[in-house]
This record gives sequence, C-alpha cells and structure tokens, in this order.
Amino acid sequence: MVKDRDYYEVLGVGRNASSDELKTAFRNLARKYHPDINKDPGAEETFKEINEAYQVLSDPDKRAAYDRYGKAGVSGVGNGFDYSQVDLSDILGDLFGFGGFGGFGGFGSTQYSSRQRNAPRRGADLQTTVTLKFEEACFGVDKEVQFSRDEKCSRCHGTGAEPGTSPQRCYTCNGTGEIKTNRQTMFGSMVQVSTCPTCNGRGEIISTPCTQCHGRGLERKTVKKVVSIPAGVDTGTRIRLSGEGQPGDNNGPSGDLYVDIRVNPHKYFHRKDADIQLDMNINIAQATLGDEIDVPTIDGTEKLKIPAGTQPGRVFTLKGKGIPRLQGSGRGDQKVVINVEIPNSLTPEQRDLMEQLAGTMGTEVIPQEKSFWDRLKDALNG
Ligand SMILES: [Zn+2]
Ligand SMILES: [Zn+2]
Repeated sequence: MVKDRDYYEVLGVGRNASSDELKTAFRNLARKYHPDINKDPGAEETFKEINEAYQVLSDPDKRAAYDRYGKAGVSGVGNGFDYSQVDLSDILGDLFGFGGFGGFGGFGSTQYSSRQRNAPRRGADLQTTVTLKFEEACFGVDKEVQFSRDEKCSRCHGTGAEPGTSPQRCYTCNGTGEIKTNRQTMFGSMVQVSTCPTCNGRGEIISTPCTQCHGRGLERKTVKKVVSIPAGVDTGTRIRLSGEGQPGDNNGPSGDLYVDIRVNPHKYFHRKDADIQLDMNINIAQATLGDEIDVPTIDGTEKLKIPAGTQPGRVFTLKGKGIPRLQGSGRGDQKVVINVEIPNSLTPEQRDLMEQLAGTMGTEVIPQEKSFWDRLKDALNG
C-alpha cells in the first residue's frame, strides 16, 4: 500500500472540493472499504488512509495547514496516526444519519438500518391505456378507466390479522424489528444491527392470518375511475392521476396512475398535430366552372367556395376548424385537399357534349411545372 498519497488523491476529489464533496467522497469510500464490509486484506489499511485524509481535510484549520505545508503541517497525522483520538461514531453518525454507531453493519446490499426498513415508502406507479374515438380526442371526454390495484383488505382492514385477533409484538426483537449484536473490531466495541428474522423487521407477528388476504393486509381489486380527458389529446398523450397507484408501505404515500391515450383513426379526417386534413372529390365541371360545396368538419358542415379553374391538389384552409391545442390556446385549421374526378363512364349525351368541347380545345400538350404531389406538399407545409 502507498503510505504517502496525497489526501485529495486518496479521497479522489479536487483541491477545491467543498465540504459536501468531501463528505460524499468519504462516504462512498467508507462504504466500499469499511472492514466490516470489505474482507480484502488491504481494505483495513485503505480505510485508515481514507479516514486519515478525511479527518484532516474536513477540519478547515488542518486543511489550511495541509495545503501549505503538506503532511508536515498536520502534526500527529501521518505515521502513527492516533485512532483513539478519532470519534468515529460522531463522523459516521453524522454522515449516515444514525444516532449512534449502530447501523454501521447495515452497509451491505442485503441489510438496511432499522430506520430505512420501517421508513414510509411510496407505492409503485401503475399504468393503464384508454382508447378514444377521434371526436372524443378532439373535444375531450370523461372516460371510465379500469385497472387493478392493491387496496386494504376489507376483512382485516389492512392489519393482516383475522378479525377478532390482533398482531402480536415480536418476541425475538421485542417489537423493534431489529437485533443488536456487540462486536469487537479494530475501533473497539461496535453494535451491529440486523433485521429481526422472526418478524422480518416489522416488529410484530401475525399468529392468526386473515383468511381473505392470508396476512398480507392487502387485496387485489379492480378499480374504476372516471378520468377527465382534455380536448386535443392524441395517441401518446399521458395523463397522471396523482395518488391513484399502489399504496405505500409503512404509511408512505400512494404511487400515481398513468393513463396512456390511444386515438382510433377517423375514416375521413387525418390529423397532423392540431390540423385536420380532409380529401374532397369534385367533378370536372365543378373544377372548371366553380361551385359551392358542403364540407364536413368536426363542428358540422361548412360551405366552401370552389373558384372556377380549380386544379387537382389545390388546398383550401378552413381557419380554426382543426383540433384544440392541448398546450396553448386556439385550434388548428382544416385543410381541404381537392381531387378532381375524371369520369370513367359517360351517358351518350355527356359523351356528345364532351366531344364538342374537345373539338374546341386543340391538342397542344405542355409539361407541368410542378407535380400534384409537390403542390400538395407545399400547401400542407405552408
Ligand atoms: Zn385481510
Ligand atoms: Zn422481530
């Protein structure tokens, strides 16, 4: 082991590290190298080194002296560092939030301190999906959703004990949920705390479990909730119902319920953000001579004037006839894309008229500047 490493290097922090950074670095290293946890032969020496570095750097006077003169400036530190002077319970108690040194044995991955064990824990979040009609997504709707959730057992009211009986104080731990063992370590006598194996840390045992929940205190229930879905949602919109998830442990708060929205496509209306696109067919006479047509919108029928000489692919905009914006205000537009239908069968009379028309029109053919699709794209993006 390297005996004379720089203290900052030992803790892996920069020379300007704040006291919080020092604390964090020390805590992480102490977790890793504390001899109670790390059984490697070198761990104890490393832990001493870490502790020495932290002792000096966490004391502003000592740190200043160390910064100026190095280890020579910090008397009593370095070789022969006197551990009896170090009040470990202070440092560790402060660092780990325990009152005393007890609980130090709980660093391993499987053990937790009793406070963590019995601490309130938030319940898990739940998720459900609701499918809406196109119109429901446009205007908003109150929708009933169904999901499964644990709720307090109706028979034992959450105690887990059969009605008429009650949970009893655990005889192994006397209700504390933990077992303390005295251990001799290099720092002297330490109290190690571990979870009571009889009651699993709960402090009480149920001798006559509830017949309905088998002692769990909870039962799975199908819950129905009416969710108020705002106008303008789309597939992928997520609504959070605070506190409607799984119940918490030890009186912790419940989790949340997330409702994911799915919107069924509409037969005619196609959605692009807050805009709606609708394709309308008109005939060659309407396109050529102009007309007024009825256009369906999500609010009902609207009149739309088709000017004479309307080309296929022309897009008309019905302002504010789109979908309400979920975030922000106002509504999108409805874009009406005109398709001109070429008749594929004519009555003898129509055929006669068409031939007369053709006779007046000549046969000149010129290439088009922009294709139908280009113009459609321009219109929709503009
Ligand atoms: Zn029960
Ligand atoms: Zn117990």
